[in-house]
Amino acid sequence: MPAWAAEHPELAALAERADRRGLPLAAVPLYCLRAAHPNPAYPRPMHWTNPPRGLTHTVMPPVRPTPCPPSRMIDILNLTYDELEAWMTDELGEPRFRARQVWQWLWQKNARSFDAMTNVSKATRARLAEAARITWPEVRTVKTSSDGTVKFLLALSDGALVETVLIPSESREGKVRMTQCLSCQVGCAMGCTFCSTGSMGFERNMTMAEILGQVLVAREHLGDDRPDHPIVRNLVFMGMGEPLLNLNEVMRSLRTLNDEFGLCFSPRRITVSTCGIEKGLRELGESGLAFLAVSLHAPNQELRARIMPRAARWTLDDLMAALESYPLKTRERITFEYLLLGGVNDSIEHARELVRLVSRTKAKLNLIVYNPAEGLPYEAPSQARILAFEQYLWSKNVTAIIRKSKGQDIKAACGQLKASELADLAGLAGQEEGTDGHGGPGGPGEADET
Ligand code: SF4
Repeated sequence: MPAWAAEHPELAALAERADRRGLPLAAVPLYCLRAAHPNPAYPRPMHWTNPPRGLTHTVMPPVRPTPCPPSRMIDILNLTYDELEAWMTDELGEPRFRARQVWQWLWQKNARSFDAMTNVSKATRARLAEAARITWPEVRTVKTSSDGTVKFLLALSDGALVETVLIPSESREGKVRMTQCLSCQVGCAMGCTFCSTGSMGFERNMTMAEILGQVLVAREHLGDDRPDHPIVRNLVFMGMGEPLLNLNEVMRSLRTLNDEFGLCFSPRRITVSTCGIEKGLRELGESGLAFLAVSLHAPNQELRARIMPRAARWTLDDLMAALESYPLKTRERITFEYLLLGGVNDSIEHARELVRLVSRTKAKLNLIVYNPAEGLPYEAPSQARILAFEQYLWSKNVTAIIRKSKGQDIKAACGQLKASELADLAGLAGQEEGTDGHGGPGGPGEADET
């Protein structure tokens, strides 16, 4: 039992029940506090001012018990190709070509065990099984929307929950192709006020194995095992977390994705979306391993500071100055994401400011219409305002595309599914504590993260 449960016996019973249901124990104090808070819109620990029954945010995480004892075995999916080759030759005494064979089994043939690697000798497989493990994220829930969007709730090896979404589209030949939205952190520290994930706070960074494990899970679900004709065509780092705050693992993931004997994703099929973090932006650009998308959501500093308070610490002016010199290939443009929030950032005056701002770079705009979510203080703009906003941008020669929200019936916006799972626990807390037990805060529309 975690230390906070011993200090607060009123939470111990809840912790036990959460444990039995496989929910992360770190969520218990958070959701007990959330359940008792008079305003469910801003229940983040850092904003806590009125803790019930003598609790303060200091009793919340940092304790995160690990359901499975940490293994001393190598997490083989967490090795880049060079690391795998060095480990197999130096530690196992294997020839180099074995590393290539194992790599292909891991990343192209979706092997979940060393036994499946039939062109590798039995002796080598036994040595591998003694020293290493292949750990995929565990699928907790899969929801398929009426529009074909598929959302997975995944449990990582320590029980942490993350989400990934497959968004369908049709190729010119009429074939179904998927874009996968990947998470890179458990929770997020940025606290954007319209985002479900932001309201959960930050738990930890994901490893390369966990980030790319999402792709393996999706490919297995789709029966997608032909790298030459993949069903998952595009990847977007727009799920839970801010990629540039987990730069090391994101860069390792991009290099591994790029490997022609592995997942074989060309940089043209990968987009990394950031809310605008100074550190790492240059490195990402110089790597040439992915396109860049920047979540703007506000055309001026004052509004950005209101709806994205942490992202706005790097001022809009400085962000745009950095983007002006961002390394772009010929004909490449930066994508700006702009979430239209009714009555907040959707007026013609906002559009005018936006044109001035994005014209400083080679840019195109994705306009995303906000999906109202319970507990968050925003609403969708009217259709007339959306169209007027878009038309104004086009009239000033700014490319702007309205992105349709998908998967609304399955809580496809990032953080919503995890929030609803954890909301069950809030219900428990409500029963135990005699409060009304608020659910998770919900989230915005498709592709509105980071
Ligand atoms: S929108 Fe992106 S950066 Fe902002 S809180 Fe959500 S996940 Fe984090």
